[in-house]
Amino acid sequence: MNSKVCIIGGGLAGLTAAIHLSLDGFEVVVVEKNEYPQHKVCGEYVSNEVKTYLSSLGLIKFLKQTQDINTLKLSNVNGQLFSAQLPLGGFGVSRFAMDHALFKHAKEIGVKVIKAKVTHFESTHSGFKTYFMDSCLNSKFLLLAYGKRSNLDKKLHRSFIQKKSQWIGVKAHYNLDEFPANEVQLHNFDGGYCGLSKTESHAINCCYLVSAEVFKHYKSIDDFNKKVLRNNQHLNHFFEKANSIFESPLAIAQVSFAKKSNSNSNALMLGDAAGLIHPLCGNGMAMAIHSAKIAAEAIKLVDQNSLQMSQLSTYYKQQWQSSFKKRLFYGRIFQKILLNQRLTSLGLNLLQPLPFLLPKLVRLTHGQPIPAYD
Ligand SMILES: Cc1cc2nc3c(=O)[nH]c(=O)nc-3n(C[C@H](O)[C@H](O)[C@H](O)COP(=O)(O)OP(=O)(O)OC[C@H]3O[C@@H](n4cnc5c(N)ncnc54)[C@H](O)[C@@H]3O)c2cc1C
Repeated sequence: MNSKVCIIGGGLAGLTAAIHLSLDGFEVVVVEKNEYPQHKVCGEYVSNEVKTYLSSLGLIKFLKQTQDINTLKLSNVNGQLFSAQLPLGGFGVSRFAMDHALFKHAKEIGVKVIKAKVTHFESTHSGFKTYFMDSCLNSKFLLLAYGKRSNLDKKLHRSFIQKKSQWIGVKAHYNLDEFPANEVQLHNFDGGYCGLSKTESHAINCCYLVSAEVFKHYKSIDDFNKKVLRNNQHLNHFFEKANSIFESPLAIAQVSFAKKSNSNSNALMLGDAAGLIHPLCGNGMAMAIHSAKIAAEAIKLVDQNSLQMSQLSTYYKQQWQSSFKKRLFYGRIFQKILLNQRLTSLGLNLLQPLPFLLPKLVRLTHGQPIPAYD
């Protein structure tokens, strides 16, 4: 088996698919516009559902360096705190380290990674042509793993890109020895919520999502942190004691949670390119990795003639929907609750006498552990 697969985007989804397909014997080329390693705006909490699968792809040594997380602490704007064990748990790891580890491993096992920005692609009678710089790459299969918002979305006239989206993401790493390594904390503030968790380097990742409507009334991230985030006593305590490691925080705008399609002709969309779950669920990375597995397995079926090329995108769509549709739905509901101060307080009041409910709610946005690569 030596069919060629081109993957646009070398983030979690693209690199995972590249490793999986390369282990299956495909010739894989990833085209990624950025260098490695790089920090990315992300909560950096990964659900354990992908641990067995990632280990089986050859990342077992890397995963041992990450921080095990088994407890969720949740607070409302007034600082009322609720704590619960996470049913499946997860691990804390920076995107700086994780994307880099996948990149290095992919290269070691023979994946070709080209640093270039893809300008467009087209389908041909025998597959696809992908264009970047002055080059054109022919491949039988094409995977679109270019993340939540890309120049290619405009080229494809995807409907979500026409709509202005009102979310901003901000992230920085801090030092604070006393921060418990086994916790992921989610603290509500006016207009958004902020996640705190430890990474493999022992730095604490502080990442928040805020509505642009609320944020625009403040002069800067610093001003916003002082006047809004610090109104939550837990965040105030954190900023009081922690020292920032970053010169300045990273920020991204135009984060969209709109529904998206997950294929374009027979080019399959992976990870955030196919749909972004609300970050409070801590599940986007697991979904990106899981979607890579689904796509890689579907491509193998076509290459073995067990599935026709003309059925590929329908087959992938069905697998994608059955794996993710439900959790995206619950993610939307939880986001609505968490952004409504009254509903969050009501929810936390309900949870106080019924603590067993929170793990059940968390389970709604998480999947089952994904089987190992074989
Ligand atoms: C504020 C915030 C917090 C989050 N917190 C968490 C969390 O705690 N836990 C969790 O599991 N998930 C979280 N997520 C979600 C998670 O970050 C994403 O789901 C995950 O990064 C998706 O991976 P991906 O591979 O699809 O995209 P990405 O990691 O974004 O990779 C896409 C890659 O494509 C490249 N690319 C784009 N266009 C082109 C082009 N034209 N040519 C070449 N390359 C291109 C980009 O450079 C990028 O490297 C959070 C998201 C946000 C916004």
